[in-house]
Amino acid sequence: MQFARRAEMITPSSTLAITAKANELKASGFDVIGLGAGQPDFNTPEFIIDAANEAAQAGHTKYTPSAGLPELKDAIIKKLKRDQGFDYERNQIIVGNGAKHVLYLLFQALLNPSDEVIIPAPYWVSYTEQVKLAGGVPVAIETSERSHFKITVADLEKAVTAKTKAVLINSPSNPTGMIYSKEELEPIAEFCVKNDLVIISDEIYEKLVYNGNHFFSIAQLSKSVKAQTVVVNGVSKSHSMTGWRIGYAAADAALIQAMTNIASHSTSNPASVSQYAAIAAYNGPQESIEDMRQAFEQRLNTIYPRLINLPGVTCVKPQGAFYLFPNVRPLSDACGFTCVTDWVKALLDEEKVAVVPGAGFGMPDYIRLSYATSLDNLEKALDRIEHFIKEHTK
Ligand code: PMP
Ligand code: GLU
Repeated sequence: MQFARRAEMITPSSTLAITAKANELKASGFDVIGLGAGQPDFNTPEFIIDAANEAAQAGHTKYTPSAGLPELKDAIIKKLKRDQGFDYERNQIIVGNGAKHVLYLLFQALLNPSDEVIIPAPYWVSYTEQVKLAGGVPVAIETSERSHFKITVADLEKAVTAKTKAVLINSPSNPTGMIYSKEELEPIAEFCVKNDLVIISDEIYEKLVYNGNHFFSIAQLSKSVKAQTVVVNGVSKSHSMTGWRIGYAAADAALIQAMTNIASHSTSNPASVSQYAAIAAYNGPQESIEDMRQAFEQRLNTIYPRLINLPGVTCVKPQGAFYLFPNVRPLSDACGFTCVTDWVKALLDEEKVAVVPGAGFGMPDYIRLSYATSLDNLEKALDRIEHFIKEHTK
């Protein structure tokens, strides 16, 4: 059977694929340590689960408005005011089935064929594929460890064309954990406003920042920057709620309406009980967020020194999210592999440690390790990686 070109031009999500592969091996009885997971390893806080139970018992099991329950929009509006000082109205918010779905709707609503979206590399694997699915063209700006994986206006000037529609900023970044400061964002925002480019700000890791680093949203810079920005966020990472599938966008009302129209003909609405859970997440106590943040910070600070001690490995210390993104090319060369992806495959085969190859993130010399697992597992994984290196450099 011949499939549509759109299905053939995209690659499956490598982050989800590696997690599935690790789980499959575990189910077959192998002692696998999965460092592929892009989700917090904590349970969803109990009061959120209770709220979902109560909602189901109370009969909130029917369709909701496509863009989400008004009460959830209000909870999101309150969150945005509390955390960033933003003012949004209900018609400027759409709730979707996770931030991933919201981004999908956004590209569908925004892009005409051959419209370009500038995406700093390394990037989260789904951005480029979603842009392509909308008929657009992802334009990657390659960054380096030297620039701490951040872009500048000089990079934007080189990448921008008459077809550029939007610039994507993901801070804290998946996979590098880098955070843009207010000072770094200022010239980028100015450039976008001057060139009438939509700013897509993926803030999903907002709450996971470490060692005194701070999150700053580009939309906080000024009213005109905010008017041009689509803020994307959700409860997946902040409240350990990846499976509930709730994310949102806050933006210009006309754009939100266009996204809502597309949702109304595709997914209708996010699951009703999940929406009630998200209301509780945003309106309830926020202490659990801090507990998780501290656990991630401790893991990062424990595991990072061990990682950079490995021969032939360099890694900029992450400031947020829960990933490490080291360059392992010299190490992979020393182990006799032709590419890092093969090194990753052999690591899984021989030592049963799952990490994600950098290729899907646009940086094939790198790997992504998630520290959303126990310290014990992390230490064990590093032991196995050391053993693997010893075996292959004898
Ligand atoms: N953006 C980034 C950078 C991510 O890492 C993820 C993780 N899945 C998402 C968006 C989407 O998250 P979700 O769909 O679970 O809200
Ligand atoms: N965002 C997470 C990751 O990067 C979850 C998997 C996905 O949706 O890609 O691993």
